[in-house]
Order: sequence, then structure tokens, then C-alpha cells
Amino acid sequence: MDGSRQRLKDKKKIVVKIGSSSLHHPETGKLDLRKMEVLVRQLCDLKNRGKDVILVSSGAIMVGKNALGIKKRLEDVNEKQACASVGQARLMSIYQKLFSEYNQICSQVLLTKNTMLDDLNRYNAVKTFRELLEFGVVPIVNENDTIATYEIDSMSVFGDNDRLSAVVAALVNADLLILMSDIDGLYTDDPHQTDDAVFIDCVEHLDRELMQMGKSSTGSSVGTGGMATKLSAADIAISSGCDMVIANGNDFHNIGRICDGEKVGTLFLADRKDEFYVLNKLEHMV
Ligand code: GLU
Repeated sequence: MDGSRQRLKDKKKIVVKIGSSSLHHPETGKLDLRKMEVLVRQLCDLKNRGKDVILVSSGAIMVGKNALGIKKRLEDVNEKQACASVGQARLMSIYQKLFSEYNQICSQVLLTKNTMLDDLNRYNAVKTFRELLEFGVVPIVNENDTIATYEIDSMSVFGDNDRLSAVVAALVNADLLILMSDIDGLYTDDPHQTDDAVFIDCVEHLDRELMQMGKSSTGSSVGTGGMATKLSAADIAISSGCDMVIANGNDFHNIGRICDGEKVGTLFLADRKDEFYVLNKLEHMV
């Protein structure tokens, strides 16, 4: 086992991001409760190991759509917002139930790009996260979809919360971000399209050539994130001094394995510490 992987065992503050596509049954589009139980158990175990844990979870629109019995694909932004409003409350009540089984308190934090750009809002968010972590709470973060239209449009600013999770990691000064995706990690090409795609275990420097490898789709019909937004998230995370791992969300046991130093997913090594880089990136996201 190499040194970079071994060092993941010592991470203290961990942000875990789960996309909608990792939370649902593909056949029905409904929540996969068994997987959610594994997810929550993994996170509670990290807490028991003395880590601070922040969960960034999508799924509000998907859960709301199911609750309202909508079968068609959602196109209208206001429809998506209504679904998010219903779904976010439901999602949180399920998370609260699951976390309480392990006597773990969780909380809800809803963010938007604008609140992150506003100095006072951002300062308040930083202080609130700090308090929550001091209380031993697991904050559960999502975009505030009901008020931020551009974020759930097809050109999502945070891209299925990939970039949001990286911004959160920078905000709370996390030392590890784990992105659970519908792909094993970074390949040299799209493995859904070609057999020649080679898996990349570790990225030491995220250069322009690697950024080009990001494709806009991962083949999932749920969620808005592709490899491009994941690489953009990696850029933000590593620039704020945080290692990042992209791993397959088909098995949430991968979270514990990554924190045990096992070779799971693609590891992006923290590169440089630049507090203005993230803000600058955020400002220029469209
Ligand atoms: N914030 C959105 C939600 O929770 C993300 C939608 C998506 O998965 O792309 O539903």
C-alpha cells in the first residue's frame, strides 16, 4: 500500500458527497433504503473513529418527484423546485431517522452560489459549520434548490453537487473529500464508450491534459454531474489543501475502505493552498 493512501487513514475532517444516481433504484427511481443504511452506518463509524464528517447529499428533486407521483422527465425549472421543496424535507426525515439509530445528530445546511460569494453569508456559514462540528453533529448539505434556479438547470453551477462539495470542503478546511460517483474513478477515456480506457489510480498534478479527459456525461439518467464537474471539484479541493477521492457509489462500504487506506477509486493529491483561488473559481462559474 503506498504512502499517499496510508495517509488517508489519518484524515480528520471528511466531506462525503453522494449524488442522486447513487441513492436510487434504477428500475423505479425510488430511494434505495438499504444503501442509505450502509451509507449512514459508514459515516457514523467514521464519527466513532473520531473524525468530523460532513455529508453533501443530492436527491431532493428525485425524492420529491416520487412523492408527488410524477412519472415524466422533469423539464420545467419551477417544477423541479417544487419537487426539491417536497423532497428535501422527506430526504432529511429519512436521514434523521437513520442517523438517530446510531444516536448521531445530523442537521440541514442549504447553500447557494450567491450565499457563498457574499462575504457575510460565507463567514456565517464557516462559523455555523464550526459550531456544528464542535457539537459533534453531522451537517447534511444540499443546494437550496427552491430559490436558486440556475443551479438545477441542465447547466447546473454545482453539477450534481460535485463542485458544491468541493466548495464546502474548502469552507470547513476539510482534509479529505470523497465523491461517490457512478464510475470507479478517472479513466483516460470514457469507459462506457471504449474498451481502451485505462484507469488512473492517483493524480499527483491536475494538469490541462487531465482536465480535458473529463467528459460531460457518465451515462446516468439521474443527476447532472459528469466527469468534467468532478475534475473541476478536484481542482477546487486540491487547491484548498484537501485530498480528494472519486469512487464508485454502487457500494458505500468504499467510504470505510478509502479511510482505511485501501486502493479504491482515484486519489487526487492536495496541491497548493490558495484561499482566493476557490472564490475566484466560484465567481466565474456560470
Ligand atoms: N440539488 C439537487 C437535488 O438534491 C441535485 C440534483 C441532481 O442530482 O443533479 O435534487
